[in-house]
Amino acid sequence: MITSLIEAFGHCPLCGSPDYDREPRGTRHCRSCGHRDYNNPITAVAALILDPEGRLLLIRRAKEPALGLLAMPGGFVDAGESLEQALQREITEEIGLALTSVGYLCSHPNDYTYRGLTRPVCDVFFHARATSFNVVLQHEEVTDWQLRPLRDINPAELAFDSMRHALATLRARS
Ligand SMILES: [Zn+2]
Repeated sequence: MITSLIEAFGHCPLCGSPDYDREPRGTRHCRSCGHRDYNNPITAVAALILDPEGRLLLIRRAKEPALGLLAMPGGFVDAGESLEQALQREITEEIGLALTSVGYLCSHPNDYTYRGLTRPVCDVFFHARATSFNVVLQHEEVTDWQLRPLRDINPAELAFDSMRHALATLRARS
């Protein structure tokens, strides 16, 4: 069974009271100390990297969620990082490339389930170029990679709705 992370809390994390009410839109409010958690999303970044022929770099996911489906490389922003820093760190870790000409493309809500607990995510997408395509895969995260003309990508092959949205946004600009 999948439960939202904020729903799973039995007590207020601040004062420990069990009077931790569920409110509309997924927020929680403590009747004892007044603490309120707004269930704000965590942030993830991903890059739509185009080669000189306009083909998009896609990876094949080695892990759940969406094991075996195609995705744009990226990951979660760490505390203390900017979006740009997180993007380059994740791209270096997953595929070993250095990005250039990075620009904002679009964002889209998503969610992420880990050990049965789901939390809201805001996925932020960037378009980018790479200094080379000498890909070095991080095999725990990625099984394979490919360069695909935009028109040849079936959105159903992609891991998340947010990525289908990003592909459609990039296609509309091209
Ligand atoms: Zn409290």
